[in-house]
Amino acid sequence: MSQSPPTVIEVAVAIHLDKTFHYRVPDHLAGRALPGHRVFVPFGHRKLTGYILGYVAEAPDSKLKDIIDVLDPDPLWTNNELEFFRWIAAYYLHPLGEVIKTALPAGINLQSRKGEPDSERQVSGGRSIKRERFYRPTVTAEAGRQPGSKASEILEVIREAGEMPSADLRRRFGQCTTQLKRLEELNLVQVEEREVYRNPFGEEAFERDTPKGLNVQQANALNHITEALNIGSFSPFLLHGVTGSGKTEVYLQAIAHALTSGDNALVLVPEISLTPQLVRRFRGRFGSGIAVLHSALSDGERYDEWRRIRRGQVRIVIGARSALFAPLERIGIIVVDEEHESSFKQADGLRYNARDLALVRASMEKAVVVLGSATPLITSLYSAKMGKLKLLSLTERVENRPMPQVTVVPMQGIKETISPQLARALEDTLAAGEQSLVFLNRRGFATFLVCGDCGEPLTCPNCSVTLTYHRQRRQSVCHYCDYAVPAPGTCPACDSLEMKELGAGTERVESDLRQVLPAAILVRMDSDTTSGKDSHSRLLKRMADRSADILIGTQMIAKGHDFPGVTLVGVVNGEASLNMPDFRSAERTFQLLSQVIGRAGRGELPGRVIVQALDSSHYAIQCAIEHDGESFYKQELEFRSEAGYPPFTHLAALSLSGTSEKAVQERADLTARLLGRLKKELSLRIEILGPAPAPMYRLRGRFRRQILLKSPNRADLRRLAAAWQSRHEASTLVREIIDIDPVDTM
Ligand code: ADP
Ligand code: ZN
Ligand code: ZN
Repeated sequence: MSQSPPTVIEVAVAIHLDKTFHYRVPDHLAGRALPGHRVFVPFGHRKLTGYILGYVAEAPDSKLKDIIDVLDPDPLWTNNELEFFRWIAAYYLHPLGEVIKTALPAGINLQSRKGEPDSERQVSGGRSIKRERFYRPTVTAEAGRQPGSKASEILEVIREAGEMPSADLRRRFGQCTTQLKRLEELNLVQVEEREVYRNPFGEEAFERDTPKGLNVQQANALNHITEALNIGSFSPFLLHGVTGSGKTEVYLQAIAHALTSGDNALVLVPEISLTPQLVRRFRGRFGSGIAVLHSALSDGERYDEWRRIRRGQVRIVIGARSALFAPLERIGIIVVDEEHESSFKQADGLRYNARDLALVRASMEKAVVVLGSATPLITSLYSAKMGKLKLLSLTERVENRPMPQVTVVPMQGIKETISPQLARALEDTLAAGEQSLVFLNRRGFATFLVCGDCGEPLTCPNCSVTLTYHRQRRQSVCHYCDYAVPAPGTCPACDSLEMKELGAGTERVESDLRQVLPAAILVRMDSDTTSGKDSHSRLLKRMADRSADILIGTQMIAKGHDFPGVTLVGVVNGEASLNMPDFRSAERTFQLLSQVIGRAGRGELPGRVIVQALDSSHYAIQCAIEHDGESFYKQELEFRSEAGYPPFTHLAALSLSGTSEKAVQERADLTARLLGRLKKELSLRIEILGPAPAPMYRLRGRFRRQILLKSPNRADLRRLAAAWQSRHEASTLVREIIDIDPVDTM
């Protein structure tokens, strides 16, 4: 028998080094070490998981190390996907191994744990069955034994349901192993282990939903999309449709068209837990064959969904930004709903923007992209103007429903959080048996506590922000690092006991509304009331089934919900988001206000909106209340052009942070000088701004400085960033992170 020469493979490793590595494949692994598989490799003193990119032609060098093992029976990614990953790594200046690790579901990635693959190894063997523990109440529970309050609550739920799998309990109660053990010990529940296929949404019932007859504008938009689908080349669309204009119906019918021609569909939404209605409509229309990648899935569940997709058992994938990496093949159409949302940008690690990458993936797949929004990004509208996106407009609400009528209440001299006008309108709405939304983009009770004697506000010791006062928790809390102190305390500056509450949050609005409208049934939705997995849908359901009269909430209630019963929207503090030190604050204010206003009058009854504001003269507010997007975009484009911001320039942000203020400052100066030199050497058209303290100068105990790179030419910007990356040496004291196309510069 002739011996085949050992193969050399190129492997990416998930570490912060921007290169790939070569390994030799020993004979006994030769047939299995294929591109698309993970391998276990020696790396320095460690053993790590790597990703096989391909074969290397060169003859094996004797210095090359052997791989230890191949981890997967089937390839995890295709050549097309690898090409996509390479593109991402190059664009965001991020190591390829980390890109692949980000793209694969968490449940799959092996850690180097004492050099041994961990137990997930068995899961990756391709089994679709796992064992699950089911809890059932015992028939004769012993009386008089107290399991503890959380355990009692869990027991209550198990009794109500008759039987519950542990995954459901964890989803509902978080980590509850101790409580379950205790219940078992007290003989209050029985446990049985059975084999199950993890299907977290399998039991949810859905109503059948049929395609609606489209109006002229919808039909026109759909025609353009289906024509592009038939041609089968890359076609990007911007679907700009006012709130309630029936964009979702257009997505549904476009996707139906793609499915009939054998293509698959990927749908990206800002946050899946905020869009249960959208998911229900998809399930109602298409039935099975949908994978929903929910952020609350356990790693194992997410991995199961991933494998269903990889095996081609799924035609439609719906999920938040990471769904962009779903291993879906034959993609005919990618929908990005609410394309203006900043949550499409990942804030740490690989700082990718799923909205932007949807265009890249679609162009590689020769697919159609539909970016949809009532308030598109100004950069998107500009791209449409430049002919890079095809603009489809829906200017009217469906069935000729009118846009809501908006009134502004000036708040100068008014002490109450709820003005008399808003109070009266809420009362009238309640009396008419209709529902209202009250929107305020701040949770907690008071905005902050301030000392009545010396005027010092209570601030976070780790971050440059005031602490928000939460009355129910009796705490002052930092919304950035979760630092919390009992409140109201004494003034840390002068020991005075006179701490005063300033400003209002959703908790305060709720408490004030209880006084003003004692008969109304109120529900509050903000991140304090929605920590459990199903809490969103429970709160939304109470609006849908009309068991609540008024929904109070933060921006969570502004997004995408369709409440046909809502005829009144109240906005407390309409200018709140205008004063952020960010060049996008006007755009964000316009988007947020337009979206909130758009929640009113989506059913048969017309809606009205009351916006409370100290000063409503800014064009972002004026244009939102007049439903005048065109005028807003015109004025905002002028501002962007004068100030040299996107779409007229491209940005990259270099942020530096560390616990030593001096080290950060010195490093920032050094880095700025290096950038200046590189810019000259390469003769690039770039403006280097800073270093300047970040608006949030301290965050979680770290001092932060920023350098902003601005250029009309994207290639120049990337050349400078790449040159910096290859030239600089990492510092142990100061973390330096480059963010391409930053969305948050706070
Ligand atoms: P958008 O996504 O633009 O806010 P939706 O697609 O949610 O709007 O549509 C708003 C409401 O109008 C939904 O209840 C939807 O079922 C309904 N709808 C959409 N298109 C039509 C149509 N052509 N005729 C009647 N109702 C429609
Ligand atoms: Zn004081
Ligand atoms: Zn803090």
